[in-house]
Amino acid sequence: MSTLNYVGGCQCGSVRFETVGELTNLCVCHCSDCRRSAGAPMVAWGTVARKEFRVTHGRMAEYRSSAKVTRGFCASCGTSLTYAHDERAHELDVTLASFDAPEVPAPQAHVWVQNKLPWVVISDGRPQFARGSNEPAS
Ligand SMILES: [Zn+2]
Ligand SMILES: [Zn+2]
Repeated sequence: MSTLNYVGGCQCGSVRFETVGELTNLCVCHCSDCRRSAGAPMVAWGTVARKEFRVTHGRMAEYRSSAKVTRGFCASCGTSLTYAHDERAHELDVTLASFDAPEVPAPQAHVWVQNKLPWVVISDGRPQFARGSNEPAS
């Protein structure tokens, strides 16, 4: 059995992290909270078990971005790193673009497409969901 291991960090290098184990729920999120927190039109995420995520250097700052969501980021450079939802306490979402080898794993779907910016054109053929991945785009 192979062990999947991903390492990554923020733009300035103050925060470094690693994940062990499979990443699930690989998606690109177009919601307005991700957009504002990253200053980017969309954010790619993968989910890991919280116990399989470890900060290996520095300290990750956190803030409440909505009632049940805490986002982790680098306090020095501001890079968005993690998303934690109170109702999924055993899981953590990590920004795929923060991995040192961000080519893989690739997102498998687009979520919150109902909030997608009009100048973002999705043409990769991957499934699109109006909201979360359980609610197909109409
Ligand atoms: Zn940083
Ligand atoms: Zn989002």
